[in-house]
Amino acid sequence: MSVSIASLTAVEVDYPRRGRALGPVDLDLRAGEIVALVGPSGCGKSTALRLLAGLEQPTRGAVARAAGKGETAVVFQAATLAPWLSARANVALPLELAGENRAIAMGAAAQALIRVGLGDALEARPAQLSGGMAMRVSLARALVTRPRLLLLDEPFAALDEITRRVLADDVLALAADLAPAMVFVTHNVEEAVYMAGRVVVMSPGPGRIAGEVSIEGPIVRPPGFRTTEAFRQAAEAVSDLLAQAGARAA
Ligand code: ADP
Repeated sequence: MSVSIASLTAVEVDYPRRGRALGPVDLDLRAGEIVALVGPSGCGKSTALRLLAGLEQPTRGAVARAAGKGETAVVFQAATLAPWLSARANVALPLELAGENRAIAMGAAAQALIRVGLGDALEARPAQLSGGMAMRVSLARALVTRPRLLLLDEPFAALDEITRRVLADDVLALAADLAPAMVFVTHNVEEAVYMAGRVVVMSPGPGRIAGEVSIEGPIVRPPGFRTTEAFRQAAEAVSDLLAQAGARAA
């Protein structure tokens, strides 16, 4: 049995004046596991991610995190890059903030950018990058510290379908290589089934777990995976759970 990297136990989150935003929810994340969180807007997916990241405390229940702060990386929907820094300096930043020597940080940043296919854009400024490239820089910045836990909040939502698919394969290749436990939020059922080993479906807010679907297969999906019967059945099972929970996938 692999080790637990983070878990939520009977967790509930209430916000002042807004009332219950999430829960009660139980979720256990194992080492190297890739989990997709799917559910309607406002059901508490981002809140669950912030709890797993240790950025927020629950109102009730317990959050356990085996991955420390420095072992957790978060990628947001918009690539939050410092506009005045080169791609390489942006990626080096978390290492420098952790006290790493600048030359070593810049070297590791170059390696991370090469890994995400941006070896030609080390000195580019964020304004010179396409949306897909900026997201790659964000991914490189998240991975440069070799996190045990990688959390992604709708990372591809702003990108076109073709770029999304290429990035999905790239993220899976990185996941297979570096093996962080990964939780990502998406509205897209196909993307969830393609990328995750386990899709957790949430009900409309305040979200609870409506059910989950496991997806067999290697982390790096073989060509044609989207057209297999197993893929179709898993996507249907996720859609059914969403429908039963009273939600519709966007
Ligand atoms: P999702 O990511 O599924 O769209 P969120 O986790 O962002 O959902 O939000 C869940 C609920 O909590 C929503 O009703 C949202 O308006 C509310 N909420 C989220 N963050 C805060 C906050 N900091 N203060 C008050 N309400 C919040």
